[in-house]
Amino acid sequence: MIPVVALVGRPNVGKSTLFNRLTNSRDALVADFPGLTRDRKYGQATFEQRQFIVVDTGGITGDEEGIDAHMAQQSLLAIEEADVVMFLVDARAGLLPADQGIADHLRRLDKKVLLVANKVDGIDGDSESAEFYSLGLGSIYQIAAAHGRGVSQLMNTALEPLAESFPDMQVQPRQDEEEEDAESQLERLQNRPIKLAIVGKPNVGKSTLTNRILGEERVVVYDLPGTTRDSVYIPMSRDEREYILIDTAGVRKRRKITEAVEKFSIVKTLQAIEESNVVLLVVDAREGLSDQDLSLLGFVLNSGRSLVIAVNKWDGLNTDIKDEIKRELDRRLGFIDFARLHFISALHGSGVGNLFESVQEAYNSATKRINTSMLTQIMEMAQEDHQPPLVRGRRVKMKYAHAGGYNPPVIVIHGNQVHDLPSSYKRFLMNYFRRSLDVMGTPIKIEFREGA
Ligand code: GDP
Ligand code: GDP
Repeated sequence: MIPVVALVGRPNVGKSTLFNRLTNSRDALVADFPGLTRDRKYGQATFEQRQFIVVDTGGITGDEEGIDAHMAQQSLLAIEEADVVMFLVDARAGLLPADQGIADHLRRLDKKVLLVANKVDGIDGDSESAEFYSLGLGSIYQIAAAHGRGVSQLMNTALEPLAESFPDMQVQPRQDEEEEDAESQLERLQNRPIKLAIVGKPNVGKSTLTNRILGEERVVVYDLPGTTRDSVYIPMSRDEREYILIDTAGVRKRRKITEAVEKFSIVKTLQAIEESNVVLLVVDAREGLSDQDLSLLGFVLNSGRSLVIAVNKWDGLNTDIKDEIKRELDRRLGFIDFARLHFISALHGSGVGNLFESVQEAYNSATKRINTSMLTQIMEMAQEDHQPPLVRGRRVKMKYAHAGGYNPPVIVIHGNQVHDLPSSYKRFLMNYFRRSLDVMGTPIKIEFREGA
């Protein structure tokens, strides 16, 4: 599990600017779920090796009738799901009634709230932000989100207390012991059940599929109370492999909560993806790929998890329509060449059995042992087939490669000027490794290190 940081504040205080600054380091894709979440944005972020999810709750104007009602609707869920709330105010604009309204609300919640005065660049931050003490939220963190000033201190303050509750947020620093780390990681992965997250936007058939996979009698077992944020973990076995299904839809469903907003939590979905080994992304054949599907796909790609895609509701369609859907999917999913696509009917069960072959394959690929000599050999072959280009008159030289991790497989390449390799060459390398290692269902990550 990784923590969730929510950004709240009226429009124009700099939430998007801070959001972008926090998420850029990983080229995070932003899940923009129109209708469902209004203007909320979700991003995967890393700060000094610590991973977290950041939510921009959208602006609260304060002009609406009753700010409480408005907040309750729009941002409450995001705030509720957050481990830390950063409440942004504008040091240049000064204290406004809407700030007061938001502060009143936040003070009533049992949440860690950091009061952040933004835009202190070029002004006297101390005196300009002093009036915000009257909000009664304690210390004021002065930042200039646009320039990054004060952001490190803010993030350390926000994330440090969470380290204990979220040991997983710490990204392993990759150093000399990397290969050893990779080896012990592999051992851990091979001795544990496969965590399979079933994700997709509302109504694509996740619950139907989960029930189908488990068989009716097992469903009762997981009818447990949970909050919007908790997924349900269901142990099961299949073809002599142990699995844990991470069910993002089940509980809500069974408690007959019909409102999509309550049933479907993006944070829960993102957590499930981060926690899993393999993601089963369910899409609706009849609706085609939506922006929401692509956003989820973006998150899966970012997380590096293995991926199998199930195109559901494949029943009762005529051949022409099926052909058309397949063509359209091929065209739009061309950029993920590693994931297997299955056409299934969760309702009738057709195709569901075969899903697990691909899940197995994806997991096996993600945890297939790779070593220095093998990787270096493949790298040399690639280099012979296709020389790296000249950069500033010197040829980029790759020297050797070693394993940096699994699920996804991480290949670390050492050499001279390797950081300057153009993306076309990196793509070539990626494909070369994929073919040579014969892996399917998992992305491969290549990291470059200067020198030997
Ligand atoms: P949001 O509506 O809260 O998401 O606010 P935005 O991030 O869109 O920022 C609103 C405006 O404030 C934009 O014009 C930003 O360029 C500007 N802004 C954001 N951060 C800073 C800052 O640190 N200093 C200054 N001077 N302007 C900023
Ligand atoms: P969830 O919100 O993703 O959990 O979706 P549900 O499992 O609740 O399914 C949403 C609706 O789609 C329900 O009415 C299901 O009966 C229907 N549905 C699910 N799978 C299929 C399928 O394979 N074929 C058809 N025709 N309908 C399906």
